[in-house]
Amino acid sequence: STTEHVDVAIIGAGPSGAGAAAWLANQGITVKVIERQHFPRFSIGESLLPQCMEHLATCGLLEAATAGGYQSKNGAAFTWRGTETCIDFRNKFSPGPGTTWQVPRADFDQRLIQAAQDKGAMVEFGSLVEHFVADEKQPQLRIRREDDSCYQLVSRFVLDASGYGRILARQTGLACPSVLDPRCALFTHVADHIDCPKHDRNKILISLHPELSGVWYWLIPFSDGTASVGVVASRETLEAAGSEDRERLWHLIKAEPRLGSLLTRAEQIRDTGRLEGYSADVERLHGPGFAMLGNAGEFLDPVFSSGVTIALDSAVRAAPLVQRQLQGETIDWDLAFEQPLRRGVATFREFVLAWYDGRLPDIIFHQQQSPRIREMISSVLAGYAWDQENPFVAASARRLTSLAEACRQSPEQTISEQVL
Ligand code: FAD
Repeated sequence: STTEHVDVAIIGAGPSGAGAAAWLANQGITVKVIERQHFPRFSIGESLLPQCMEHLATCGLLEAATAGGYQSKNGAAFTWRGTETCIDFRNKFSPGPGTTWQVPRADFDQRLIQAAQDKGAMVEFGSLVEHFVADEKQPQLRIRREDDSCYQLVSRFVLDASGYGRILARQTGLACPSVLDPRCALFTHVADHIDCPKHDRNKILISLHPELSGVWYWLIPFSDGTASVGVVASRETLEAAGSEDRERLWHLIKAEPRLGSLLTRAEQIRDTGRLEGYSADVERLHGPGFAMLGNAGEFLDPVFSSGVTIALDSAVRAAPLVQRQLQGETIDWDLAFEQPLRRGVATFREFVLAWYDGRLPDIIFHQQQSPRIREMISSVLAGYAWDQENPFVAASARRLTSLAEACRQSPEQTISEQVL
């Protein structure tokens, strides 16, 4: 087999790979992205958070994404047993954008990687990274092309952006289980035909099953009259809902009155997808000559649409460090990359835990909080999970617990900031 040389090799052309590739190519660094699929390709993860708009700008990808003409998004609506409430991202504690988009990922990911190519990144589609050799100076990848031929890609640094492929986590033995319970998602796209005047296409709609705790749904409208819809539950709950996935998905959708009625005229326009066991972690996000980005490192849970934001956050943290390392600096990847990245992820993790143990639904559906508290919660849900000024970032677990307790004890009264 032959050998190729490049400064930086990136595994995967999703948002984290495209973000890092674009940033590095912009600095004149030679980058090669290896992507096993051909784009455009379907991916789940269609509702973005406002925080990621800043990251897109940092990578020089905002213009390309804007050209997609996507459905704008300004918050999240929640519904349970006939009660509706919403979080408006424009009213938030942290500075930064308050709106974002809902994107069909086939188109979005294609635009990002195309823009990275336009900046000079090389991208090889249809090739699989199948082996990795860690090395401080010359990490190596073995690449298998579609015609089954192989070559070695020798670089000076490898960024693993392989998403659920988790190629380096598996090859280096760093993979470890998530603290979150395993869950399962069924999803599809529909021509939604929603004509309810109360339905706001500018928000993701998160619904909770009226009886089954921990079972929830997303409805993510796109700009062309289609929408993404999905349900998350334990595997047992899904299996009990029908004999095949399409039947299970629609049976569960009809069990939630608000979503069921919104989708009475919906036509399914793609197969029913299933993903399970997606929550995953690694012991470390870096090693000699490599770092892991986005889902290739840790993935939590889809409920707060944090995946793409974390993926892009990891890319904009790692890319400048790679550049400095190539220039001869010694980088402390733990201090400069892993610790700050993980701080924001930890905020989201606390919010995910609070979602499933009932604290967060109690907070979200309590209508009488001081506007300031609502803005703090809104800020985290808008992706500003790294802003230590926000009390719900600085001590998420404790503050979510005390706020939820106050909401339960005083269902009708205004909750002031003193509970924090
Ligand atoms: P990906 O987008 O997964 O890209 C990885 C790429 O690597 C792929 O194109 C793959 O083909 C390629 N690859 C893999 N292995 C190899 C290999 N060995 N060689 C070469 N190429 C390889 N996030 C949100 O932000 N909003 C949401 O609403 C949302 N909803 C979700 C719903 C569900 C049910 C789930 C499970 C996740 C959801 N997510 C959501 C998360 C989101 O899908 C991911 O976080 C996001 O796609 C991560 O981007 P990435 O760049 O890390 O990886």
